Amino acid sequence: MNVQADVCIVGCGPAGAFLGYLLAKKGISTVLIERSSGKNREFRGEHINAETEFLLKEHKLFEKIEEQGILKMSKVEFFAGKQLVKTITPSLNEDHVGIHVPQSHLLKTVVQESKHYKNYRLLLNTTVTELVQDEKGFYTGVRANQDGKEFIIKCSIIVGADGRFSTVRKLANLPVKIMNHGYDVLWTKIPAPFGWEPTTRMLLVNGHQLALFTQTGGFIQIGWNIKDGSFAALKKEPFLSFLEPLIETLPELKEIALKHLHSWNNFVCLNVHSSHCETWVKDGLVIIGDAAHTMTPTGAIGINCAMKDAHVLAPTLIKALDEKNSSAERLSIFEESRRAEIEKQQEMQIEEEKTFSENFVQHAL
Ligand SMILES: Cc1cc2nc3c(=O)[nH]c(=O)nc-3n(C[C@H](O)[C@H](O)[C@H](O)COP(=O)(O)OP(=O)(O)OC[C@H]3O[C@@H](n4cnc5c(N)ncnc54)[C@H](O)[C@@H]3O)c2cc1C
Repeated sequence: MNVQADVCIVGCGPAGAFLGYLLAKKGISTVLIERSSGKNREFRGEHINAETEFLLKEHKLFEKIEEQGILKMSKVEFFAGKQLVKTITPSLNEDHVGIHVPQSHLLKTVVQESKHYKNYRLLLNTTVTELVQDEKGFYTGVRANQDGKEFIIKCSIIVGADGRFSTVRKLANLPVKIMNHGYDVLWTKIPAPFGWEPTTRMLLVNGHQLALFTQTGGFIQIGWNIKDGSFAALKKEPFLSFLEPLIETLPELKEIALKHLHSWNNFVCLNVHSSHCETWVKDGLVIIGDAAHTMTPTGAIGINCAMKDAHVLAPTLIKALDEKNSSAERLSIFEESRRAEIEKQQEMQIEEEKTFSENFVQHAL
């Protein structure tokens, strides 16, 4: 197989899929490679905030995703024991606080819309294995593997949008600092009881966040933070005692929780970290989204940051291609536009994690 494109994007998550769409729309020949089959992508959070909603509306994607199914949250509630101590309601002129958008609905729609453009190509089940450089050290393509077959994709610019364990970042020798945040997340999903309002509910259990996100299709996604690295020890404890704080706070969930959660196997443990890269660009190469700056689940802003990166990078790439200048210096315009905001958001995540328990302080009336 011989593939050539102006831009080769590695990774079809929120960052890569959206960038592919934006470039394809502008007539840039774009190849997007994704290692999964598109159906069994790793689970990530699925709640988006107002900024992502705005971006999707700006690019006329929101209505199409809405047709697939989304769920708007009416409020965020904080419970100290059984006591509701704080409620966040929609701001003025809004009717919701965040939206549940199934990952499949988001990515499927963006990819479908991109496929209308002949200059766009998506290669699934395709993994990047090597980066190709010219004699001056500029990146000029990737070696990829699809179903055991190796081939080279030649391009003017490589974009690494391949997530927090980015292969592109590693192959390009971009130094990264990983920061642990002291917690991992146990994920599970249960059916929502009849009449359950579409809300996000926060509980404090042993100093950690227990979040319940109502989902499209009548489910509640549970994200239960535990001390990092503690899952192996926790699994030796009686499972039902672990569920007690959830059931005591929200007794209306008792029957469903006991019916659907019987063992530790019902939870998937996700290791949480953030990352910081010294630089996001090299000659002919740029990294975006979690590959450049891994975000933690706090505040549900990772998808937002990833998609905003794509939004800011697209015009930079178009101009660089137009000027036939893919140098790190030219591409760094993107990094300069985004770095300060990203660093501020990562600091905010740390602050929110440190002060999370203050949300549960009961104030005397
Ligand atoms: C537990 C958890 C919960 C979260 N909850 C939320 C939330 O509710 N809201 C929110 O906004 N953010 C949330 N986040 C953060 C959010 O999921 C990420 O910030 C966001 O997905 C980053 O998007 P991305 O496109 O950069 O990377 P990813 O979503 O990780 O996508 C990367 C893509 O690249 C592909 N890929 C990887 N390596 C290769 C390779 N070598 N070759 C080809 N393809 C490859 C992967 O298969 C994947 O499809 C959460 C994160 C975690 C860990």
